[in-house]
Amino acid sequence: MKVILISIMLALSSSAIAITLMENGHTDYQIIVPNKRPAVVDYAAHELQYFLKEISDTRLPIVSESKAGPGPAIILGNSKRVKNVETGKLTADGVLIKSIGEDIVLVGQNERGQLYSVYVLLERYLGVRFLARDCTIIPKKRAVTLPKLDYSYSPPFMYREVLSYDAFPKQIAARQRLNGPYTQCDASTGGKIAFFPYVHSFDDMISPDKYFKDHPEYFSLIGGKRTAGAIHAQLCLTNPDVLKIATEQVLKWIEEHPDVPIIDVSQNDGNGWCECEKCMAIANQEGSQHGPILRFVNAIADVVAEKYPDKWIETLAYAYSTKPPALTKPHNNVIIRLCHAGCYYHGFMSCGLGADFAPNLKEWSRLTDRIFIWHYGTNFAHYIAPNQNLTGLARDLLYYGSHGVNGVMVQCNYQGPGGELAELRQYLVSQLLWDPKRHPKEIRLEFCQGYYGPAADDVLQFLALMDKLSDDRSKHAFGAWDPKDTVPPSLVADGLEVLNRARSRTDDAQIVNRIEKLMLPLWYMELTYPEVYGLDAETAPKLIKSFEAVVKANGITYVNEGRQMQDWLAEMRRRFPT
Ligand SMILES: [Zn+2]
Ligand SMILES: [Zn+2]
Repeated sequence: MKVILISIMLALSSSAIAITLMENGHTDYQIIVPNKRPAVVDYAAHELQYFLKEISDTRLPIVSESKAGPGPAIILGNSKRVKNVETGKLTADGVLIKSIGEDIVLVGQNERGQLYSVYVLLERYLGVRFLARDCTIIPKKRAVTLPKLDYSYSPPFMYREVLSYDAFPKQIAARQRLNGPYTQCDASTGGKIAFFPYVHSFDDMISPDKYFKDHPEYFSLIGGKRTAGAIHAQLCLTNPDVLKIATEQVLKWIEEHPDVPIIDVSQNDGNGWCECEKCMAIANQEGSQHGPILRFVNAIADVVAEKYPDKWIETLAYAYSTKPPALTKPHNNVIIRLCHAGCYYHGFMSCGLGADFAPNLKEWSRLTDRIFIWHYGTNFAHYIAPNQNLTGLARDLLYYGSHGVNGVMVQCNYQGPGGELAELRQYLVSQLLWDPKRHPKEIRLEFCQGYYGPAADDVLQFLALMDKLSDDRSKHAFGAWDPKDTVPPSLVADGLEVLNRARSRTDDAQIVNRIEKLMLPLWYMELTYPEVYGLDAETAPKLIKSFEAVVKANGITYVNEGRQMQDWLAEMRRRFPT
């Protein structure tokens, strides 16, 4: 009986722990890379070596396949040592992590996937967390063991971007698996999803400077007058010369940017569609101003498909054109980038603000399986003000994940470091873009525990105050708004009380700075609206000094999309002289 029990226990433990990678500073393992390999494999191997050394103070050698010893290995990419590793089911940026005997094989669907397989191994099986530019959590272990591994995953979104300044550096972007054009990712991290131009390209395609004088008919007829410009004016999309010039320009862009897979052909910012008889006839027939746009874009995409079958043409569905056309479908090489229009706090699904966004998205997903979303995540008129959108944002991303969307960009403060809850929002979004089914509260918890350490519980309590506000069904927000309408004085008072307590928990200067960065939005409300939040003239100069110190420590340069922080601070100093 006893013998049987022991053998059962051994069997159980050997199935739970398949291998010991490192123990007490010793390892038999090596990291094997293919003899011929792209730069990303070297980057991935060094990231793996670095983190394993940090975890257990043991350095695994990186060796080319032909120089590898007989001992067990973590194998990156294809190797003669492993056969029958099936990656055919993976889609863009997908990863596969598999035990074969004592070896572990890490493979990607593409070069980025190869690098991501290392990060997923570190996150999923070794507890590493890539929280922010200034914070990676690495658990220290005497022994590093792994179970038998057979894991594969492909993210539902092939394009994942947080348009936030702090998300751009290559290292954090790669670790958080962000692959947008604004990241500084290069060949060493498997490249990125590049676009040219980024968006609003009508103005670049048919330059008003070059054409308007002799050919006003190329541009929008608005209120009986031909109008050109980069904003609130478009092109006359039924003019055959416009199509010809635009097509030639797109082909030229492709030749000038051979590495860019996606060429943008999209409307200028604002409104200003063409009201000429021909354009309006199509819009009326299609029941949407996207009708003339999509017919124009499809015609260009057909020419591109002939000559460059691996290129994509992207167009916006934005402002006046979010409703899909009734008759025309996007051609196979066309990507629709639909711009978010819905409540930040309650999500577009459950709020009257932007109620037509979900039906529009559903209809687009019926017409095409190539939809990217441009999602808004900050208050563009007040980057620093409290913005209780964490719950609504997570809800929206989950919705995208289950409604045929395959690329998402969330636009935050892209102009400079910081911004209200910048690090948490970036981590939350990057995790949900990789896996929208992750529970947002679990992501929040791991972020706060890692980023705020002993003050985590207080910070969580502060975030709960924000959540409670967003439950208020009478307050909505989208894009740019006056935050005094959505931030009651109680949030500032209670929030500062909780965060002062958080600050008192630790002497760690880095964590104190992070907590003060959370206080910045509350101080911003007091300084901007002293009469609403009860800031008196005597206290204000001192508060400006505290505010300036946090701004300086964190290099925060923008207060909103159009205004530099120093300019705003100068106004505050004039308003509250010492
Ligand atoms: Zn027209
Ligand atoms: Zn709402």
